[in-house]
Amino acid sequence: MIPPEPPRSPQLGFLYLPPFRVQGYSIAGEETFVQIPELDVCFDLGRARRAMLTSNHVALSHGHMDHAAGLAYYFSQRHFQGMRTGTVLCHPRMEKPLQDLMQAWIDVESQHTPYKIMGMDPDGEEFEMKNHYFLRAFETDHTVPSLGYVVIERRSKLKPELVGLPQEKLKALKESGQEITNIKEVPLVAYMGDTGPGSHFRREDVQAAKIVITECTFLDPTHRDRARVGKHLHLDDLIKELGSLSAEAVVVTHLSRRLHLGQARDRLDQAVPAEHRGRMHLLMDGRTNKQRYQQQLAEAEAEEARMD
Ligand SMILES: [Zn+2]
Ligand SMILES: [Zn+2]
Repeated sequence: MIPPEPPRSPQLGFLYLPPFRVQGYSIAGEETFVQIPELDVCFDLGRARRAMLTSNHVALSHGHMDHAAGLAYYFSQRHFQGMRTGTVLCHPRMEKPLQDLMQAWIDVESQHTPYKIMGMDPDGEEFEMKNHYFLRAFETDHTVPSLGYVVIERRSKLKPELVGLPQEKLKALKESGQEITNIKEVPLVAYMGDTGPGSHFRREDVQAAKIVITECTFLDPTHRDRARVGKHLHLDDLIKELGSLSAEAVVVTHLSRRLHLGQARDRLDQAVPAEHRGRMHLLMDGRTNKQRYQQQLAEAEAEEARMD
């Protein structure tokens, strides 16, 4: 008898939520990273697979191995491939231990892998990723120090009462010291990391975010206690928050590894109120997400044909 081939590594989860791609891998206790290429950010880094290495910014939610194991490999591979040193943001209490880890690797390898690890004040500290785009940190509630993040787009807009004035007039006003713009802030994506329920779901920026990516480790009605003990979210907790989230899409990650995806889909269909079901997505539900993507492709093609 000829033995079978080894199993193929599972495909990454993928959702196109215009204008953003949300892609990655997330199974509780195994591995979690969620990348948004358009924003050049990866939330958590899992085992630092090839796909996530391109993100210049990593927003680490907490230090559990399934979220942070790839730290050294992320810096090392980027260095090896001639990319610039990425930036890993983390809870301030993890900054030193993570730097110590990198320092240990430098000793182990006798090779000076460059790294940038920065603690973020959970009280809303911001990091500017690129012009107008900021990562804001906030405290969440897990068994270890943990952060959630919101990506904010901040732009200055001409005050409405000044719209239409000639350039010279505006310039003169500005030179006279008058404020001619308002700052407009748009929360784009919120990432909750591993967390139990709490007021972090009721932050204004989280409630206003266009996409909310949240863990929901337990769906089974009998697993409420497990969720409490591990400080994770249970589907019942998430359902309570759905009404106050204005997100167009709520992406569920970090499902328990014992849960079959078919069961998870059924559970959502049974438990989530009809008005919210359409915007709930399971990151790892490859079959459903592929169908959805193919429909998006078909619609785009039809649109293009119509324009011709
Ligand atoms: Zn986890
Ligand atoms: Zn965890």
